[in-house]
Amino acid sequence: MKGEKRIRSPIHFSSHFSLLTFHPSMMKFIDVKEVFAEIPDEITLAISISGCPIQCKGCHSQYLWEDVGQELTTEVLSELLRKHLGVSCLCFMGGDQNPAEINRLAQWTKQSSKVKVAWYSGRKTLSKEIDLPNFDYVKIGPYDEACGPLNVKTTNQVMYRVENGQLFDITSRFWKL
Ligand code: SF4
Repeated sequence: MKGEKRIRSPIHFSSHFSLLTFHPSMMKFIDVKEVFAEIPDEITLAISISGCPIQCKGCHSQYLWEDVGQELTTEVLSELLRKHLGVSCLCFMGGDQNPAEINRLAQWTKQSSKVKVAWYSGRKTLSKEIDLPNFDYVKIGPYDEACGPLNVKTTNQVMYRVENGQLFDITSRFWKL
């Protein structure tokens, strides 16, 4: 696809963050929205997960820093997918405090539905606790005021499409001409 770049050694599987250990059942979300710009060519159900440990300077979503909201379980995911039948993709927005749980929920979604699965991570590198076949898209990178958001060419953030376990950089799809 035009504008896509295949990445052969894409990311370093390490974390720069000293993270608290959360029990899987403790992951919570604040809200869900059907959105159109977060993942190219997809109608996406975006789930805003709280308890963000990244704490980027200039974050516009500081309400997500506290560990508050409703517990995110497979039962809740099932109900959300039932209510939002028209979506083609489900995106976990956050969850960096517990990538293993994001991976578990992504795997469940893959096995239980036909929707694609995406993850917006604020980490600089992809967590080693993620199994790529469970995902169709992953975005990595914290918000950096100096670099700007995903839709400007100077951004530090990278969006990958995952295909057959390989990562393709599709960040340029967000850039405005
Ligand atoms: S990762 Fe997102 S929610 Fe978390 S601090 Fe950065 S911009 Fe805010």
